[in-house]
Amino acid sequence: MAKKKLPFTEAKLKEIIRQYPTPFHIYDEQAIRDNARRLLATFDWAPGFKEYFAVKATPNPYLLSILREEGIGADCSSMAELILAERAGITGESIMFTSNDTPWEEYQKAADLGAIINLDDITHIEYLEKHVGIPEVISFRYNPGPLLKGGNTIIGYPEEAKYGLTHEQILRAYRIVKDKGVKRFGLHTMVISNELNPYSFVATADMMFELALEIHRTTGVKVEFINLGGGIGIPYRPEQEAVDLELVGREIKRLYAEKIVPGGLHPLKLAMECGRMITGPYGYLVATAIHKKEIYKNYIGLDACMANLMRPALYGSYHHITVVGKELLPHDRIYDVTGSLCENNDKFAIDRALPPIEPGDIVVIHDAGAHGHAMGFNYNGKLRSAELLLRPDGSVKLIRRAETLADYFATLDICQNELSLAAAAKKPL
Ligand SMILES: *Cc1c(COP(=O)(O)O)cnc(C)c1O
Repeated sequence: MAKKKLPFTEAKLKEIIRQYPTPFHIYDEQAIRDNARRLLATFDWAPGFKEYFAVKATPNPYLLSILREEGIGADCSSMAELILAERAGITGESIMFTSNDTPWEEYQKAADLGAIINLDDITHIEYLEKHVGIPEVISFRYNPGPLLKGGNTIIGYPEEAKYGLTHEQILRAYRIVKDKGVKRFGLHTMVISNELNPYSFVATADMMFELALEIHRTTGVKVEFINLGGGIGIPYRPEQEAVDLELVGREIKRLYAEKIVPGGLHPLKLAMECGRMITGPYGYLVATAIHKKEIYKNYIGLDACMANLMRPALYGSYHHITVVGKELLPHDRIYDVTGSLCENNDKFAIDRALPPIEPGDIVVIHDAGAHGHAMGFNYNGKLRSAELLLRPDGSVKLIRRAETLADYFATLDICQNELSLAAAAKKPL
């Protein structure tokens, strides 16, 4: 059972809200650090293990710096993500550039930073050579297609996915770059997402170990590292269990001893690029109930909406909800918990059993620390909320301010005068 507790008391949260109005995202620094250490400990037996945090999950430089202090790098896929990593002090081979459909300027930036470039297609070898040049180290993303049986709910069937090189192409790709003088090689895949079954990660490692051995046999290329991708799920529902990392570490270690060592590939570095499991459970969306509406169903309207957390609307995902101060009351009301978008799927929960809620109650939505704020958008003129960091000493730091109307209108040449007048007078437009 995953415990759904809050890292702050009601009094502390009210104090935070006095300074930073809802809605906001708040991240628990100590829990993120402890969790990062847990993942690294899983692979403490693996030579040179590296975790590259998937920046897209929570692209905030303060969080990236905390992770850097824990020895974690960055998995980037765009110009902005590369710059964020750089500003957080993550450079060189602590960055893995796993992108797809990539403009050459982004490869150039990755090369300038000394990042490991992970190519998504065989034709990208020529594209990279033409625009940027062939780097010293190169990695390829593998798509096993129908060779991997069974799909994953978010990524789907590998043969339907746009990513990576086929089995035949990947063997050819290593020969091509070897002929071009590349001396150091990596191998990557990402075939599962939000997966809770530990054996899926063991199976991925097995598939990749076999592939590394085959690449060695058929092309003479010894890959220096294997990146197993991200995709470690989190228990969004209280009745779910977190992935048994100890089992994952133990079983992959066994496979390494059985296959990599006798196959002559030891020492082979292992890597992962998890996003969700690093920050997901340790970020909370804090909102206030502003309306209570009773028609054919009962609705609680929040001051947050799908622009602050899109997962329930996008994937129908469950996010646990705590009504602060009412945790111990009977959950004997059934509500749809909604935001204000003119979209009927703007709901954080549907038919959820909760305690009686009144306008003014503080509502915390759990597991919003990854793919939460990051997926925010401005549809319906909604402004992105602030991000706060709860520090180990209990203090709170603003790590991204909330957007203002001036931000929303910044790309238009209307309203600029009115906005500056209103700002000067500290009044709304
Ligand atoms: C999204 C993504 C990740 C991170 O996935 P999580 O589910 O957040 O662990 C890692 N690698 C690639 C290539 C991705 O696209």
